[in-house]
Amino acid sequence: MTTVLTPATPLTAEDRCDRCNAQAYLRVVLTSGGELLFCAHHGRKFEPELKKVAAEIQDETEKLTATPSAGEEER
Ligand SMILES: [Zn+2]
Repeated sequence: MTTVLTPATPLTAEDRCDRCNAQAYLRVVLTSGGELLFCAHHGRKFEPELKKVAAEIQDETEKLTATPSAGEEER
């Protein structure tokens, strides 16, 4: 229905946070070409820093609120 110019690969349970190994909900594409994955917790924590170095931030934290039965392992 919608045409997406940059088809982002959805994050899955296979994608883990680089900091705590929880399930990742943010993918940060760096201007240098690298890629970082963060859980919702660390995504928020590092957001100000990430925005300085990110070419693109794929935010799927809305999945957390969409599925209340999941994502409760970290508080
Ligand atoms: Zn984390």
